[in-house]
Amino acid sequence: PAGPPLTPLSVTDVGSTADVGLPAVAPALGGRGSSPAVADLPRPAPTRRSRLPAHGRPTAAVELRSVTLSYGVRAEPVLDSLDLCVAPGEHLAVVGPSGIGKSTLTRLVAGTLAPSGGEIRVAGRSVTGCAVADLAALRVLVPQEAYVFSGTVGDNLAYLRPDAAGADLDATVRALGLRSLVARLGGLDGSVRPDELSPAERQLIALARAYLSPAPLLLLDEATCHLDPAAEAQAEEALARRPGTLLVVAHRLSSAVRADRVLVLDGVQAVCGKHEEVLARSSLYRDLTGHWNDGSHRKA
Ligand code: ADP
Ligand code: MG
Repeated sequence: PAGPPLTPLSVTDVGSTADVGLPAVAPALGGRGSSPAVADLPRPAPTRRSRLPAHGRPTAAVELRSVTLSYGVRAEPVLDSLDLCVAPGEHLAVVGPSGIGKSTLTRLVAGTLAPSGGEIRVAGRSVTGCAVADLAALRVLVPQEAYVFSGTVGDNLAYLRPDAAGADLDATVRALGLRSLVARLGGLDGSVRPDELSPAERQLIALARAYLSPAPLLLLDEATCHLDPAAEAQAEEALARRPGTLLVVAHRLSSAVRADRVLVLDGVQAVCGKHEEVLARSSLYRDLTGHWNDGSHRKA
């Protein structure tokens, strides 16, 4: 393989946007339990594709410093001394074989799992021990098994943005390709009965809810895996247009190619960089994308 040996168990960053717009040590914004001052954050530096916030929606940097996670005192760490900076507005695809720690990483960044060591900051704010309401203002995580609740379609969609106007809901329904589902359920006032929806329908609702959320960071953990290719492409393209920072656990070549950078987790080393760079540096990434590209999945 080309290039110098990769640092074991820590990210080798071969990209160029790793340290854009993030203070070396970001000050904590207020004490525990206070509202995160996301609106007062410094203006994000534009990234390669320059996603400046629309409607005053801020974007958020994600910073991991030497993050280690073991699920038990004697268990082998799933992540070990991981360093990573995601610039405000940047889109990062996370890839790796099953069981390698991709979901673990999204839960750590979401603040629902505390690291065994190291520090995780979102928008300059440590997420460990952050109050639930403060976390909700910072990020939205869509896991593989989407959550919907009994109530109206509108309540489900606007759950993370209760002040959403009807026009916002309509635009979301259109952007995510939910029109036929919403019509079938009886419109925005129709009822959602979670166990009467398919996994794909639940995913579409959860994705639309996340799209509408004002949180500056969106975390998608294989959140489109139940959608058919056309629905997945529409949802992913809409979510990629959403202003904000995006971390997406990807299982399609198109998601990885569309991202600003790709993080490949493989247990021994992590490599992060632009698609072409990681392709040149990581044999695991070449293997993974080779399988993705073998005709069973859509090509980018
Ligand atoms: P991926 O999302 O890449 O498939 P995960 O992050 O879900 O991988 O899991 C990484 C490793 O951590 C796996 O070996 C998995 O079995 C283990 N693991 C995940 N969640 C838990 C948990 N709650 N308790 C113990 N081990 C876990
Ligand atoms: Mg997973």
